[in-house]
Amino acid sequence: MKNSISTIFITIILLTALVGCAHKQPQLTKASQKTKNVIMIIGDGMGPEQLGLLLTYARQAPNSVLPDGKTGFDKIIHHGGSLGLSLTNAHNVLVTDSAASGSQLATGQYSRSEMIGLDKDGNPIPTVLEKAIQEGKSTGLITDTRITHATPAAFAAHQAHRSMENSIAMDMLNAGPTVMLGGGLRHWIPKEANIKESASRKELEEITQGAVRIKSKRKDNRNLLKEAQKKGYTLAFNKSQMEAAPEKLLGLFAYSAMPDAIRVSNSLDDPARSIPTLKEMSSKAIDILSQNDQGFFLMIEAGQIDWAAHANDTGLMLHELVRLNETIDYVLDWAKDRDDTMIIVTADHTTGGFGFSYTGKDLPRAKTLPGKMFQDRSYKPGYNFGDQNVLDKLYAQKLSYTDIFTGFDELSEENQTPANLARLINENTAFPITTAQAQRILQTEDNPIYEDGHSYLGSKVVPELDNKDEFFVYQKYDNRQNLLALEVGADQFVVWNTGTHTNTPVLVFAKGPQAAVAPFTGIIHHTQLGQFTIDTVSGQ
Ligand code: MG
Ligand code: ZN
Repeated sequence: MKNSISTIFITIILLTALVGCAHKQPQLTKASQKTKNVIMIIGDGMGPEQLGLLLTYARQAPNSVLPDGKTGFDKIIHHGGSLGLSLTNAHNVLVTDSAASGSQLATGQYSRSEMIGLDKDGNPIPTVLEKAIQEGKSTGLITDTRITHATPAAFAAHQAHRSMENSIAMDMLNAGPTVMLGGGLRHWIPKEANIKESASRKELEEITQGAVRIKSKRKDNRNLLKEAQKKGYTLAFNKSQMEAAPEKLLGLFAYSAMPDAIRVSNSLDDPARSIPTLKEMSSKAIDILSQNDQGFFLMIEAGQIDWAAHANDTGLMLHELVRLNETIDYVLDWAKDRDDTMIIVTADHTTGGFGFSYTGKDLPRAKTLPGKMFQDRSYKPGYNFGDQNVLDKLYAQKLSYTDIFTGFDELSEENQTPANLARLINENTAFPITTAQAQRILQTEDNPIYEDGHSYLGSKVVPELDNKDEFFVYQKYDNRQNLLALEVGADQFVVWNTGTHTNTPVLVFAKGPQAAVAPFTGIIHHTQLGQFTIDTVSGQ
């Protein structure tokens, strides 16, 4: 644990140094009048440690799927973009959750833990998206989680708590972004849809064409899909409906979250795939939004980096980062010949305290080296400093830890044995465990998987506010995913400090007109980052 904490600090020191020498420091002037479009890309939970995984993979994996070893982050810097470091804490606390952080990014003001679009006193305040609409711009929100989940919600809703997603959906509809794409149909359809024979159910089955599970979380019979249509939205529930949509667009492609990035990778070449990728959603949104002569504001969230980190699922987290990277690449490519578009890539906070770390396991054998100092001695480090092949093995994971444990829980009770757990893990990851290790993992209290098949903090069932006291707690040692991560840690050279968030400052990459980019460098706080974004959108 000590090693990984020092890894974090060293990372910060290095990155801070980087900030200081990143290209020519542009003059600190206010945002340019000429910035027409602003695209903010948020990797939820994507702190410097997460980014370190992607950069390490890109540069050192023998069979990296990023062929030229260049990530979107590299491209931003290589093409004159800037790098800054931003603190994320909410008002009067050390650590932030996504709701408070999203609110601070969206409003430029301090918010409090778990609030959506409110200032620290609890008052609704306008968001950058609402201001962009006032400026006559088109706006969009995209996520691979639920569109009513904390991060996108913070840009177009104002509620006392992030869990109030039924009200958040109504707020978002009232705010009226031009494009909303993501998951979370369950908060948009009437309660009556849960009754099999109801008219609402039949109607929904027809319009969704079987693409999305129909079950409502609403406590009322409002049909927000119909209300959206009245406001001029085209509805989409699959990729082809989305691609055919003309302009104002509400796309809901999942009952809850969209598929995790390993499932997406597995289905990418499937001709029957009906769910759009984050990149495809971004491409469609930009097609629509860029038709407005006044410009646009678009927020794109890769929301499941955080979930992978909560689960301490390193292979999944790598896939999530690659999903984000592909989207950044697309956006950079779209904007490459433009001088009127600002692209900001950041995170809302850091999750998990991740790092590669050296071990005392499988110590390297002594070998000869050609250098002068090794003519009459062999080279033999005292520790195992890590094998680059681990990077390919991490990417080779076939199922998320959550899916693996869901598969285990679906076995009949007598088949839920350590041997069967080890088999499932060994079939789906490149880091095999023994039956004895599986036994250790199962010795925790029985935590069923989060009801949507996603582990929010791992795996407690936390659908409603009633269980809130269990919602944001440190769960590392009673959580099966986290325990699996511990068992394979030495083989992966990976350490995780926690199953929740940390306050490690996050990086801010910005690319756009020089004067507009200037404020986004240096050491700032997310309230400032939010305000600079608002200034850029408002042309101030
Ligand atoms: Mg989020
Ligand atoms: Zn989180």
